[in-house]
Amino acid sequence: MNYFSKADSSFTDALFKAGLLIPTEVAGLAARSGQFEAIVSGLDAMITRLGQDIGAETVRFPPAMTRVSFEKTGYMRGFPQLAGSIHCFCGDEKAHCALLTCIAEGRDWSQLLAPAESVLTPAACYPLYPIIAARGSLSPDGATVDVASWCFRHEPSIDPARMQMFRMREYVRIGSPQQVLAFRQQWLERVPDIAGQLGIHASVDLANDPFFGRAGQLKADSQREQNLKFEMLAQAGDQPKPTACMSFNYHQELFGTMCGIRQWNGEVAHTGCVGFGMERLALALFYQHGLQSSAWPASTRAALAL
Ligand code: AMP
Ligand code: ZN
Repeated sequence: MNYFSKADSSFTDALFKAGLLIPTEVAGLAARSGQFEAIVSGLDAMITRLGQDIGAETVRFPPAMTRVSFEKTGYMRGFPQLAGSIHCFCGDEKAHCALLTCIAEGRDWSQLLAPAESVLTPAACYPLYPIIAARGSLSPDGATVDVASWCFRHEPSIDPARMQMFRMREYVRIGSPQQVLAFRQQWLERVPDIAGQLGIHASVDLANDPFFGRAGQLKADSQREQNLKFEMLAQAGDQPKPTACMSFNYHQELFGTMCGIRQWNGEVAHTGCVGFGMERLALALFYQHGLQSSAWPASTRAALAL
């Protein structure tokens, strides 16, 4: 039985009461406590350890990416409802007065801003593809990259596991279809070990992305039919269903084509990624082991170097 499966307890309330997450006036934009961050840091180090044998190049991103790269990745085709764009004030002093008046009167002041050259990063691997493309053709070994970023998705929700800003760590594989599929399989086979080290119950299932609109349903169906996305699911709150804490994606030629990535032989590169949702993994640990990390099982604490 989970620590929070008692009928009279609400995990969300308990998280806020314990101060692990600190709510703000916007759903999905909670602040994190020191104890929460210690778990995220432990997970980060564990993920590095898990990937030690794959010889990945490490790249860390700021939470924004260039608007040009963002357009190349085609995010707006699939997920316009989740995107976040950065807008800045670029006016003169007169415009500044108008801006302050607007704010003071509680009116919408966003019209007085202009789009910046950056947008918020929706997934940690997105800024990588244009960078790899700019390096020229891949070597026969392809590329394996360890990326991390704060990510933004406009999906306000009272569910603490559905945040608007969260951290994602990913191992990304770029190369031939065989290289990418073997990589994804290798990581899928690591799930029992990952869940075992954390001491959490988890399962793997076929999944799809939340594509926008009516055409989106067709895309989602096709993604499932082709086994392109799997998720590691773990109970991370009071929701009736377990939550996706890791994703295992095969994008086929999508990013290779959109961003212009070539294999050594000139063919379009295939890509895939294995994503770790840092906050969701932390929430699964708090849900399944309790709110006091000092009372977690010794093996879990050891895995997280607590
Ligand atoms: P995805 O690109 O949707 O497969 O997301 C990769 C991973 O990020 C998921 O497996 C989750 O663990 C995590 N994630 C996705 N969306 C959110 C969210 N709204 N809040 C927190 N974590 C998320
Ligand atoms: Zn990815």
